[in-house]
Amino acid sequence: MTADGHPSGSWSIGLDIGGTKVLGVLLDDDATVRGSVRVPTRLGTDGVVAAAAEVVERLCGAAGITPAELAGVGAGVPGLVDPVTGEVSHALNLDIHEHGVRLAPLLAAELQGVPVSVENDLNVAAVGAARVLGLRGDLAFLALGTGVAAGLLLGGELRRGHGGGAGEIGHLPYDSTGPLCPCGQRGCLELYASGSAIDAAWPSRTGRPAAAEVFAAASEGDATAIGIRDRFTDAVAAAVRLLVLTCDVEHVVLGGGVAEVGAPLLDAVCRQVRAQADGSPFLRSFRIADRVQVVPGGVPVAPIGAALTARGAVRRRSSVEPVGS
Ligand SMILES: [Zn+2]
Repeated sequence: MTADGHPSGSWSIGLDIGGTKVLGVLLDDDATVRGSVRVPTRLGTDGVVAAAAEVVERLCGAAGITPAELAGVGAGVPGLVDPVTGEVSHALNLDIHEHGVRLAPLLAAELQGVPVSVENDLNVAAVGAARVLGLRGDLAFLALGTGVAAGLLLGGELRRGHGGGAGEIGHLPYDSTGPLCPCGQRGCLELYASGSAIDAAWPSRTGRPAAAEVFAAASEGDATAIGIRDRFTDAVAAAVRLLVLTCDVEHVVLGGGVAEVGAPLLDAVCRQVRAQADGSPFLRSFRIADRVQVVPGGVPVAPIGAALTARGAVRRRSSVEPVGS
């Protein structure tokens, strides 16, 4: 029972564990956000578990419940994740360099045994974006942040791929004569379509995010900003086109830090998508621009999706348990 008298048995908590912060939300049984907490990330396995547990305990404390009363806790993590075992590998932004760190069991042990599920952060963002935007068809969540990658929700299920690497489109070469990428190839999409690419091209002048400055200056006619914006959005449009041509997704949702730009980003990307289809009746027939949306500003889709995923994991687990166990 919560502080305001609501039963809490189907409430869940979702965590987005990033390189700088852990953002958590408490969802009630209608998937309404009942609380949110943000703490700085502590690095390494022990630090990540401690920060995640702190967020869960603070969310529960504010609602007047204990972690044991939750239906589940879900965590989105940047790295390769085995969602069955809850193991995380090579989450370099979290300073987890090992293979097969048992994050879900470790966190569950800190939280009175509450069921914990762990997923890739873009996968949970795809689930959250579908929920927040009310989208039912196949969906790709395209994150434009430090890097570029996509989460894929196809046929109502996450498409993780053979080794958990589905959607790593940021390392598809976009300009094979371009600069060397840390991955070892040249001219990867990520070097052009990421927030980092904008940061590198336009050092912030006001302390606001560089992407916001670039789009504002471009709308006022600044030639340098227009050039940076158009180069960036051409690469984003190439990523969108790739996702539609590969999976024929009905929706491509733009997320990540750059998505805070909002409508001007969507307009510029759609303009480039149409320009790329100029002269190609084949490409125009896909009506790609009609499929693109942007995450609403300030809506924490990743933790919301993590909480929803945790709830699904609980249902799956109970459905395979023999009667009477
Ligand atoms: Zn690369």
